[in-house]
Amino acid sequence: MVSPFRLELPAGSLLFAEGDPPTSAFLIERGEVEISTGEGDSRRVLGVLGPGSLLGEMAVIDDSPRTASARALADCVLTPIDRMQFGERLQNADPVVRALLLSQVARYRSALAQFGGTAAAMGAQVNPLAGNASPAAALDKIRLENELREALDRHQLEVRLQPILDLAIGRIHGFEALTRWTHPERGPVSPADFIALAEETSLILPVGEYVLGEVCLALRRFVDRGDDDPPFIALNVSGRQLADAGFHTRVLERLAALHLDPALLKIEITESLVLDYERVADFIRRCHAAGMRVALDDFGTGYSNLGHVYRLAFDTIKLDQGFVRQLDDPRCLAVVRAVASMAADLGCDLVAEGVEKEEQLVQLGNLGYRFAQGYLIGKPLSVNEALRIR
Ligand code: C2E
Ligand code: CA
Ligand code: CA
Repeated sequence: MVSPFRLELPAGSLLFAEGDPPTSAFLIERGEVEISTGEGDSRRVLGVLGPGSLLGEMAVIDDSPRTASARALADCVLTPIDRMQFGERLQNADPVVRALLLSQVARYRSALAQFGGTAAAMGAQVNPLAGNASPAAALDKIRLENELREALDRHQLEVRLQPILDLAIGRIHGFEALTRWTHPERGPVSPADFIALAEETSLILPVGEYVLGEVCLALRRFVDRGDDDPPFIALNVSGRQLADAGFHTRVLERLAALHLDPALLKIEITESLVLDYERVADFIRRCHAAGMRVALDDFGTGYSNLGHVYRLAFDTIKLDQGFVRQLDDPRCLAVVRAVASMAADLGCDLVAEGVEKEEQLVQLGNLGYRFAQGYLIGKPLSVNEALRIR
């Protein structure tokens, strides 16, 4: 079967040969693979690997030609692991760990060259291929990452829209785009999990582009109905997207391609990213110059640096749902009230997140929160459902 995510290798076929350039590593899901060096009389079998084993990772780690050949002994199913999946994690790893790993690979290679003729004997002592079944959690992550790439290719991620209510006029003011992945076997995978996974490598960039594309299409459908004031859609943006120099331009290009007013897109930046002050400040400036608004998401969840909040010209502050859940605690209420007064003085819109109960909505309204989002107002909806309620 030809798929970049799953490889079926019939018994007897060669996966790679000694001297080949490194393309990807492989995780054996089913079958057995024999690793050997040399040819003819000097051919030596270094080992036989079974399900759960990783192979071909060394050439990928140090970007060197294959030092051995791999052939399927039985019909095999393999998960290819892209070089990037290792490369980026290696780049991001602790420099000491990286140096240790590269030095070990170098040492193994020089041993292999030196003992080339007696590779089989050496294999018995220092062959890192032997018994290298890798930690299950790490491999599961790699597998999930491949499956996410596949889902992206097959358009299996769904962008849902959660309504945001304008309490002052009792109308849906806009929506937040929230991405869903229903895995064919694992069932629904939470964005908290798969977005975090995607953020570990630059996989978040194609995921982000996909979500952006879907959001633009949804906006186009709202605009096409001919309302005077179509709703905005808020897009969650990750740290890597912000760090990507071309991101801002691509957003504007996508909007322009569908003849959409940039004011219809709002960007949400989670509070922890604000630590990267210069980058966020520059991003907000560029958004404002293009007519796009920017929200500070999950406000109050950890890194609240008021020095940044007053210097960064956010248009909206989104109070984290943790506060809304604790409104009956007088000390929490004091903070929620203070945030309302701060937002009013800064001239920011204020959205309360995670509103689940009528009394919370009333209380927040009385405290000056004009916008609310949460299951009480509506769960994340399909685009068709969102078009029906607004
Ligand atoms: P978030 O941006 O804070 O999104 C709000 C989360 O709260 C969503 O979870 C939403 O479904 C949930 N929620 C909304 N109302 C209520 C409520 O009344 N009660 C409770 N208990 N929860 C409520 P979800 O969809 O699981 O998303 C989790 C996080 O994943 C989001 O948090 C956001 O940070 C991230 N995320 C989701 N989609 C994307 C995306 O397309 N790109 C990026 N970069 N991040 C995304
Ligand atoms: Ca958000
Ligand atoms: Ca939030």
